[in-house]
Amino acid sequence: MGKLFVVGTPIGNLEDISARGIKTLEEVDFIAAEDTRVSLKLLSRYGIKKPMVSYYEHNARERGEQILQRILAGENGAVITDAGMPCISDPGEDLVALCAENGVEVVVVPGPSAAISALAISGLATRRFAFEGFLDPKKNARKKQLEEIKEDRHTLIFYEAPHKLLATLEDMLAVLGNRKISLARELTKTFEEVVRTDLQGAIEHFTATTPKGEFVLIVEGAAEQRAEIPLEEAVKQVKLLQEEGLSAAEAAKTISRQTGIKKGDLYKASLQ
Ligand code: SAM
Repeated sequence: MGKLFVVGTPIGNLEDISARGIKTLEEVDFIAAEDTRVSLKLLSRYGIKKPMVSYYEHNARERGEQILQRILAGENGAVITDAGMPCISDPGEDLVALCAENGVEVVVVPGPSAAISALAISGLATRRFAFEGFLDPKKNARKKQLEEIKEDRHTLIFYEAPHKLLATLEDMLAVLGNRKISLARELTKTFEEVVRTDLQGAIEHFTATTPKGEFVLIVEGAAEQRAEIPLEEAVKQVKLLQEEGLSAAEAAKTISRQTGIKKGDLYKASLQ
């Protein structure tokens, strides 16, 4: 029995394929590619000549079965897509599931993904994040999806096509409120650009400048819900902390974080 290799390919710059990625593509018996013409550019850049089969969203079921049979019969196969990691908003997920169900070993040869690359340079919180991929192209469905995630505190990652960008940003502003956003465009390519702003600023920017190229949107998660308490109540809490030994400034800072009331206001009020 052969193996299935899931090989990450560049998201723009053809030099971003790993040495192991090239070696794997040279060694397998066949390559399943999303668009064989796109993948030929990468393969010819590295002098790789290999039989290819097309494997894309609409032939995935039937082609997946054929690929499985070849692997069961002893051939090694690789799956690649037009850009980035297979299976991430790209074909491959079903093939991996099919191979795994049939006892075929699935090996990953990691490569870049636009989502992770954009997150890394967003300047927003990276510790916890949620990948949302493409939102629905229909406005109502898109707004419903945004409603479902508007309380999510994770940093949110979206893919978007340039011609839908403004409509998506407007829906995000309407549903999520004016949050920080980092828009990563054409990563690793000649016109790579990162716009770090808020949703309102992004709409103004891309109304003035027509969006071009491929985009990843990194959107700040929902703010922590803070209990709304009156100032006098918060001041009492500051004084309690002071009685426990904290300085006025430290106590004001702690309670400010918990309540959202300005540290200076708490500090002044607690001195009175
Ligand atoms: N599997 C790919 C990955 O791992 O990144 C994603 C494929 S998905 C069909 C294509 C989307 O990824 C684009 O519409 C865009 O949102 C994003 N994308 C791909 N390459 C990009 C790049 N160089 N710069 C910015 N976004 C990119």
